[in-house]
Amino acid sequence: MKMKGFAMLGIGKTGWIEKDVPTCGPLDAIVKPVAVSPCTSDVHTVWEGAIGERTDMILGHEAVGEIVEIGNLVKDFKVGDRVIVPAITPDWGSLEAQGGYSMHSGGMLAGWKFSNFKDGVFAEYFHVNEADANLAILPDGLDPADSVMLSDMVPTGFHGVELADVQFGDTVCVIGIGPVGLMAVAGSALRGASRLYAVGSRPNCVEAAKAYGATDIINYKEGDIVEQIMEKTHGKGVDRVIIAGGNNDTFIQAIQMVKPGGRIGNVNYLGSGDYVKIPRVEWGCGMGHKTIAGGLMPGGRLRMEKLASLMETGRLDTSKLLTHRFNGFEHMEEALMLMKDKPRDLIKPVVII
Ligand SMILES: [Zn+2]
Repeated sequence: MKMKGFAMLGIGKTGWIEKDVPTCGPLDAIVKPVAVSPCTSDVHTVWEGAIGERTDMILGHEAVGEIVEIGNLVKDFKVGDRVIVPAITPDWGSLEAQGGYSMHSGGMLAGWKFSNFKDGVFAEYFHVNEADANLAILPDGLDPADSVMLSDMVPTGFHGVELADVQFGDTVCVIGIGPVGLMAVAGSALRGASRLYAVGSRPNCVEAAKAYGATDIINYKEGDIVEQIMEKTHGKGVDRVIIAGGNNDTFIQAIQMVKPGGRIGNVNYLGSGDYVKIPRVEWGCGMGHKTIAGGLMPGGRLRMEKLASLMETGRLDTSKLLTHRFNGFEHMEEALMLMKDKPRDLIKPVVII
């Protein structure tokens, strides 16, 4: 059986292609998407060639869907179940997963399979490995479009909070308030941040950042962000920095603004360039106890269920991220191009199928 999918044809080129419907292994599921969202990562993949050349690879890694076929060894899911599909779908039996780093199962970043090592979710059907470990039931009452944010934006933003290890009363700076940064703001607030600085400038992102718990907005267009943070903290800097935007040089600013003993959590995908620089003096000449932690989110059913429960209980509202809604698979390209061109009113588009 054949299906259609929206694919990367090669670096810088996209289009619709036809492929065989994927086959279901005994532990796996075949899912048809109900709602999907394009991501800045898709843009890095296609237009920056961030993961190298790929030919006729179906794009997309953020989806909520319905199971249409299930492997005979899967215990907890059945055909017809509506599921949250995490962007990262590790091999849970791997040594890396046993070591606590599921996202690197099979090699660095290799838990990221969709639109990397296999076809992604912008297709009529897609394959999910290890359904019992990787899928989560979409709770009744949650909007599928809002819930697509559980695939990547919520777990990635929250992982930034985990990497920075935000504690009660910490002062936190979130650099970048696109959808991931906004979830890092929301996650920091849930974790008990006191002063919560959000670095950004676009009006709708600023408004959302305040709604998610930012106490101060740092507009980089109004001067150096390190100087602004230092002024607001009376020269002390912040306890934690979460990097969810900017570029390779943003690490310099993060190290400059974090206190000795502070932690920097990076969840920004550095799509190009060769090096990240660490400023020697501000890093305490190598002895400042300023920790830099960068990580891909872990994925996994348990985490997905817990994050979904935050939405069910009303502690997290992802709907503020969704600025552009499309109805129909045929709008996939339009939605992806929005992510590429980033009009000022965009936070995140979603395509409902
Ligand atoms: Zn994504």
